[in-house]
Amino acid sequence: MSVYWNSRVEKLEPYVPGEQPRDGKFIKLNTNENPYPPSPRVIEAIRQAAGELLRLYPDPECTKLRRVIAEQYQVRPDQVFVGNGSDEVLAFAFAAFFGNGDAPLLFPDITYSFYPVYAGLWDAPFRRVPLAEDFRIAVKDYFVKSGGVIFPNPNAPTGIGMPVHEALEAAAFQGKDNRVVVVDEAYGAFAGKGPEKGMLGSLSAAPFINDYPNLLTVHTLSKMGALAGLRAGFAIGNEALIQGLCRVRDSFNSYPVDRLAQAGAAAAVADTAYYAGITRKVIATRERIRAALDRLGIEALPSDANFIFIRCPGKDGAVLADALREKGVLVRHFNKERIADFLRVSIGTDSEMDEFLRAVKEAVNGGTL
Ligand code: PMP
Repeated sequence: MSVYWNSRVEKLEPYVPGEQPRDGKFIKLNTNENPYPPSPRVIEAIRQAAGELLRLYPDPECTKLRRVIAEQYQVRPDQVFVGNGSDEVLAFAFAAFFGNGDAPLLFPDITYSFYPVYAGLWDAPFRRVPLAEDFRIAVKDYFVKSGGVIFPNPNAPTGIGMPVHEALEAAAFQGKDNRVVVVDEAYGAFAGKGPEKGMLGSLSAAPFINDYPNLLTVHTLSKMGALAGLRAGFAIGNEALIQGLCRVRDSFNSYPVDRLAQAGAAAAVADTAYYAGITRKVIATRERIRAALDRLGIEALPSDANFIFIRCPGKDGAVLADALREKGVLVRHFNKERIADFLRVSIGTDSEMDEFLRAVKEAVNGGTL
């Protein structure tokens, strides 16, 4: 608390991101970064952009990047919005579309923990909708009057995907009242066996935006694009939604995406062959590790993402997380109702995941738990 804070800041409950250790001595499986490097074309594009033109502001409309995204996702450039990471795009979406009317915004009880933070920041009343027993989103629970709906697909931190027709049913229901449905597809590319067309994941609702004018899908280059350090994310939706996001951006910061990020992101989105390759590697590792954990008696929920959500029956999640940390492996534990027993483990390289398995075995057999 401080006497200098206004009442809005006093009331905030900021998001706490996963640890980013400085010394690099850990196997880092705690923030869902990609274990593989970005495409060499990305590095080359950033190198070329790192020139004297940096004295000029970047293109506020991200024209070239939006064109490349539009080509890959088979939409029009005016159906694309780009921001400084998808967190910023989400923050703008909350500001633009939620907090309207007399019913609360809806999102799952177990989901990306930034949603309640943005709702608090922009004063949007919300209601948490419990996941089903099996940790799936029960889409019918969203067929009620609301102030809008947001969920990730696949959900985080569970990793469980929702069939696209269910996401569209939520959009159809909410569309009757002109409520916006935001589908956060941060991990969408890792669904099933990997992207089918270009960068599009098999669960993506983006191809349907022309049929559902109240549907916005949100994407990031941080996960599949292996560019968490670059900060680029985007949204796909009908023109009115995109213009709503632009209105918020232009009331906040006209240049959120710098020249280097625009150049690097455009090169990434265009290099579908490279990214399909590393995405398939992550998916293969994910399935191998799920099977290995199963043999150890450790439950891993089905995952359509680049992480798995695991629990060791009868063991405390926080204690297991600490034991793994001692052995040099960082994973994420959420001290929250219903999921306190679970750990979220990002998928690393095969050798990192072998180290992780070794650390889990030692922790379980070594009696530390
Ligand atoms: N959505 C979800 C569900 C996430 O887990 C994350 C990563 N923390 C983001 C959005 C934001 O990613 P970024 O800002 O790096 O694009």
